[in-house]
Amino acid sequence: MKNHVILLAGGKGSRMNASVNKVLLELCGKAVIRRSAEAFISSADDMVIVCRENEEKTIRNLISLSPLPFPVHFTSGGNTRQESVLNGIKALTDVCDEDIILIHDAARCLVDYDLISRVIESVKLYGSGVPGIPASSTYKICDSDRKVLYTPDRSGLYEIQTPQGFSAGIFVPAALKAADTGIVFTDDAGILEHFHIPVRVVRGSSQNIKLTEPEDISRAVSIIKGEKKNMRVGMGYDVHRLAEGRKLILCGVEIPYHLGLLGHSDADVALHALMDAMLGACALGDIGKHFPDTSNSYKDISSVLLLEKTNKLIETAGYKVFNTDITIVAQKPKLLPFIPQMLEVVSGKLDIPVSSVNIKATTTENLGFEGRMEGISAYAVCTVVER
Ligand code: MG
Repeated sequence: MKNHVILLAGGKGSRMNASVNKVLLELCGKAVIRRSAEAFISSADDMVIVCRENEEKTIRNLISLSPLPFPVHFTSGGNTRQESVLNGIKALTDVCDEDIILIHDAARCLVDYDLISRVIESVKLYGSGVPGIPASSTYKICDSDRKVLYTPDRSGLYEIQTPQGFSAGIFVPAALKAADTGIVFTDDAGILEHFHIPVRVVRGSSQNIKLTEPEDISRAVSIIKGEKKNMRVGMGYDVHRLAEGRKLILCGVEIPYHLGLLGHSDADVALHALMDAMLGACALGDIGKHFPDTSNSYKDISSVLLLEKTNKLIETAGYKVFNTDITIVAQKPKLLPFIPQMLEVVSGKLDIPVSSVNIKATTTENLGFEGRMEGISAYAVCTVVER
C-alpha cells in the first residue's frame, strides 16, 4: 500500500498582490512549495506536483535544492482545481485500489505530520479523511444581493482544509466519472459526496493556514518562528470546611473518608481553585460571579460540570488552558493514591494532555486550620493561550 501525494501548485495567487505565484514566495528562507513538499517527508511514497508549465522549471529547481526521500513527478495544471487533480491522477504511476491518494494545496505549507497521519488513519478505516475545524463564527447564507437568506446551524459546520485523503479505489473512478458530469467541484471530497459516497472529517489544525491574503504571510512567519500566541496566567484559592455527613470530592474524585467538605455545590475545593485560576487568567471574574451560591441551580451540583461550563466560558473569550498546577492542602486523608484519577478528570475535561496538568497534595505539619482538620484549602495556577 502506497501513499501518493498530489500537490496543487498552480494557483494564481491574485489576492496576494504578489507578482509571482504565492507558492514560489520565500518564507523564512525556504520557498512555500518546498515547505509543502517537505511536510510529506515521512508520509509520501511519491508525489506529483501540478503546476503551470512556465513555472515548472523554477519549481523543479526549488524542489531539487536538497533531495526528497520519494520520487517527484510534474504535470501541468488545468483550468479548474478539478482538472488539475485529474491531471495529477493521470500522472501517478503504479496506483493500486488499496493505495491512498492525498490531495494537498501547496499554499498550505504549514501542514504538520500529525494532521497528515490523522488523514491517513481515517482513509485506512473509512476510505476517506478530510481535515476540518469546527466553525467558531456564525455564517450567513445570502443571495446575490447580499440579502441574508438564512443562518445555518453551526454545530455541524466545519471549515475544510487539505490534504484531503482518499482510498484510490474509491476516488479515482469517482474523479473520472465526475469529469463527465460537467459539474465544477470546489473540493475533492465534493466529488464523493456527489456520488453519495461517505466522507469523513478528521481534526484539522489552526496552524494549517492557506496563504491567500498578504497578512497570511506574516501569520505564517510567526507560526514558523514559533512565536507564542498571547499567554496569560491566573491564580485561584479556595477553602471549604470539613464536616460529617458530606462526601469528600477533590478534582472530581470521591475519596473514601469519614469527613467531607461543606458547601453549596459538592464543595470540590480543588476544582473551585482551578476554575478561579482559569477565570482569573481571562479576566472573567470568579466562580461566585458565574455560579452564585444563591442560585438553586447550583445546589449540590458536581463541580466537574461547573468546570465544563468554565471551560466553555474561557473558550468563548478566545482562550484555551495551556497548563495548570494545583496544590491541595489537607492534613488527612492521604491523597497520593487518587492523584492519577484526578489528573484524568482534569485533563479530560479541559481537553489537554495529562502532561499539562499537575496535582499535588501537602499537609501543613498540623499547623493552621488545615492542620487542625477544620478544613481543606487548595491553590491553583493556570496559564491560558489564545485559541
Ligand atoms: Mg468553593
